[in-house]
Amino acid sequence: MKNLLAWPLGLSLACGLSAPAWAGSADVPAARPQLEAILDQNYPALEALYRDVHQHPELSMQETRTAALLAAKLRSAGFTVTEKVGGTGVVGILRNGDGPTILVRTEMDALPMEEKTGLPFASRARQQRDGVESFVAHSCGHDIHMAWWSGAALALSQMKDKWQGTLMFIAQPAEESLGGARAMLDDDLFARFGKPDFGFAAHVSNLPAGTVNIRPGAAGAASDSYEITFHGRGGHGSMPSATIDPITMAAHFVTDAQTVISREKDAAAFGVLTVGAFQAGTVANIIPDSALLKVNLRSNSADVRAILQDGVVRTAKASAMMARAPEPTINYVGGTAALINDASMAEQAQKLLQPLYGDAIHFVPRDAPPVSASEDYSEFVSAGVPSLFFAIGGYSPEAIAEAKAKGEPLPVNHSPFFAPTPDPTIKAGVRALVMSIIGGVHPESGSSPK
Ligand SMILES: [Zn+2]
Ligand SMILES: [Zn+2]
Repeated sequence: MKNLLAWPLGLSLACGLSAPAWAGSADVPAARPQLEAILDQNYPALEALYRDVHQHPELSMQETRTAALLAAKLRSAGFTVTEKVGGTGVVGILRNGDGPTILVRTEMDALPMEEKTGLPFASRARQQRDGVESFVAHSCGHDIHMAWWSGAALALSQMKDKWQGTLMFIAQPAEESLGGARAMLDDDLFARFGKPDFGFAAHVSNLPAGTVNIRPGAAGAASDSYEITFHGRGGHGSMPSATIDPITMAAHFVTDAQTVISREKDAAAFGVLTVGAFQAGTVANIIPDSALLKVNLRSNSADVRAILQDGVVRTAKASAMMARAPEPTINYVGGTAALINDASMAEQAQKLLQPLYGDAIHFVPRDAPPVSASEDYSEFVSAGVPSLFFAIGGYSPEAIAEAKAKGEPLPVNHSPFFAPTPDPTIKAGVRALVMSIIGGVHPESGSSPK
């Protein structure tokens, strides 16, 4: 942590109780109209970038065209750019005097699914993954993220008189497979480019367009995936006593594992256990010799995560033991920790942004329902970069009213119909990122993720 007193702007000394957080900094109120003028000028190019990557989505770790586009955007904004970090990752550095190093991250990857939005620029792209070709679509909204990320880079480079320090803008591969942040860190991201003092990122959702939602505490759940193979002894379906049936064994696991949720964790704590795949057998009269289950866990505290992880392994072994079968093969496929927002950054951002943008800024109470989606931005937090992760609404009032009139839920991220409206969503992302940096939102010394 650098000396806060050396930071020239913003909240270092002004995380006040009742006064607006930016009181005393003449730069923040002046920066707002300056940013709006810059946004007016830059917005057409940002929407064009969004449409371009929307039409040309790329799967995890295959984001080469996308990475080249983003690298070019950063270079033209004056950043020093390094490509191919952790696979296809891009790192842009912009130095502007003494001050903190601030991480701003976007993801680049799209999903292996068919887009059904009917947009005139809908994706028809296809790509191979593990030898299987599929449609590819930006149904998580990472195309919107890339637009606001590049808009923030450009605006901050045009507003260098309003901040000091070093910006580290990174575009990471493979968020969807939860491996890209780890890949960049394992490629010595911090050793090569410096360790950021703190960071920002944001995700679009189906909340009202233009809203900026700030959450103290968990902004994303921990996710853990397992593949469990139960080993039995195959044989004729008419002679079960001559076999060890892996299907009944695995079926026991499917139901018994839910008692980890209902009986072992605190009833009030968030935790989900889903068996998303059950693969075994071919026909009715053959007892197969193995059954494969794919299991996913979600939690938002380290305690519950440990209970669920332990419970899955124990229940799998017990199910096999009950059937006198060999120990199952339990393969931990991967996962990521809960994404915990720095509480002081969340509070400062609310105090800073609410006077500027009023009702568009929502501070989510701590006791609000938890977020069950996961984000591997948590890897950067776990690596020691306290951060604030915004949720930006992407659905226009008309789209929300239309869905309500039809009695249908709004499409969520990963729906083939997910179609956030670019304006004002992209602008809201730029505003949240840029004004937080100019306003000096930072972790208070001694504050830690809660
Ligand atoms: Zn996603
Ligand atoms: Zn996403």
